[in-house]
Amino acid sequence: MKRRGCVIGSGPNGLAAAVILAQAGLHVDVFEAEPRPGGAARTMELTLPGFLHDFGSAVHPLAAGSPFFSSLPLHDYGLEWIQSPAPLAHPLDDGTAVILERRLEDTRAALGTDGKSWGKLMKPFVERWKEFAPEVLRPVTSIPRHPWLRARFGVAALLPATILAHRFRNERTRALFAGLAAHSFLSLDEPLSGAFGLMMAVPAHAVGWPIPRSGSQSLTNALCAYLAKFGGIVKTSSRIESLDTLSNYDVILCDVTPRQLLRIAGQRLSNRYKRQLASFRYGPGVFKVDYALREPIPWKAPECLRAATLHLGGSFEEIAASEKAVRKGKHADRPFVLLAQPSLFDPSRAPLGKHTAWAYCHVPNGSNFDMLEKLEDQIERFAPGFRDCVLTRRVFSPAELETMDANLIGGDIGGGAMDIRQFLFRPTWRHYATSARDIFICSSSTPPGGGVHGMCGYHAARAALTGLK
Ligand SMILES: Cc1cc2nc3c(=O)[nH]c(=O)nc-3n(C[C@H](O)[C@H](O)[C@H](O)COP(=O)(O)OP(=O)(O)OC[C@H]3O[C@@H](n4cnc5c(N)ncnc54)[C@H](O)[C@@H]3O)c2cc1C
Repeated sequence: MKRRGCVIGSGPNGLAAAVILAQAGLHVDVFEAEPRPGGAARTMELTLPGFLHDFGSAVHPLAAGSPFFSSLPLHDYGLEWIQSPAPLAHPLDDGTAVILERRLEDTRAALGTDGKSWGKLMKPFVERWKEFAPEVLRPVTSIPRHPWLRARFGVAALLPATILAHRFRNERTRALFAGLAAHSFLSLDEPLSGAFGLMMAVPAHAVGWPIPRSGSQSLTNALCAYLAKFGGIVKTSSRIESLDTLSNYDVILCDVTPRQLLRIAGQRLSNRYKRQLASFRYGPGVFKVDYALREPIPWKAPECLRAATLHLGGSFEEIAASEKAVRKGKHADRPFVLLAQPSLFDPSRAPLGKHTAWAYCHVPNGSNFDMLEKLEDQIERFAPGFRDCVLTRRVFSPAELETMDANLIGGDIGGGAMDIRQFLFRPTWRHYATSARDIFICSSSTPPGGGVHGMCGYHAARAALTGLK
């Protein structure tokens, strides 16, 4: 008889796990609570008819560079990556912008006196991305396949961004690096914040920061279609409240975070493991806004129109202050804002001549503070007249995000804080395994953590298959 596996949740990690199980010959069912698959990789008309907005992920360096997704023929199932001419623009108050260029040599030239240091820091990992990506997108406690590469990354990555940024003399380069490191949701003087700076910059040069044509749903749809080829089925509007209802499966993979796992699997787990799960810490949340725009954003620095992604926060010190405030449970006065303007490069996102924008800032977990004015003040600072371009907007507080994807606990988009403890043991020392032989956890609460790369699901499913042998 064919073995049966099921996956709870159809986020990128759930679908990656489902594909691995199906490729190994299991009959696979995926149960998804929401009416549409994808979790935080979904695209919807969130504002007006004809305007397509990414509910969660918008820009995909780690999906394009994912060792697992790259091994699948997703292009044949409708996934098309679009690269904006430059991955990232970081506007400054003087009306110019620092540009992270796609080619390392171009960034080196653009950064002037800091170009050499930037190149020296990034080059070893950019040139060996194919070996580097699998090395860093798995548990750090696993035996390295490329020890020299891992050690070289580890030395730089463990440092706080504040220390790593000492390599740069120019305020412009330091500001650029601060924006990249702030993806960590850590204070920039905390260890590991530098790792995020590198993990964002290296793929920009190695694979770009592409957006999928028609939005992140295209990635999800391609994964679902590929899964269907192996007979895998995604059952939407099927929230699992208890694993007791799933007794006819040989293995169960849960694309949920520890708090949810405790709720749905509690009775199947040992008390010790439950205590470990209960001590898992969530990170800050996000406050997100989707915009339907009558015209492109009127950036003061015209070079901002070359990039699909913008970091709005000014200098290194300002971004560091914003992130420190959030880590202390406060709301930044001048929040660091991440903004995407996909319709400039993908006309399928909006009616002819119209545009979309996606923006969020970090807030304390579970915050119900209305950050709209502060967030838009930051956009206006670098694009005066922005508010006049808005046809309509849709605001998501952390609680509203969580109602549309139960994994976004308190608005945490990374599946849990990425401090040293949870970098090493995520969510526990067992990583993907639980205290129950047939239950595994495969969400971004496992290594390597947040982002659309599917590697949590990939490793979890492989661990589950080993247990089945
Ligand atoms: C606003 C926002 C912006 C982001 N931007 C980016 C970006 O630009 N680039 C990037 O790489 N990443 C980005 N991310 C992060 C990225 O989307 C996540 O890290 C990734 O989606 C995690 O995948 P996952 O499969 O672990 O979980 P999710 O994508 O959250 O999927 C979990 C799924 O499980 C389902 N589920 C939960 N509980 C149950 C249950 N009991 N029964 C059935 N189904 C259940 C949920 O409905 C959901 O569909 C962003 C996320 C958000 C929210």
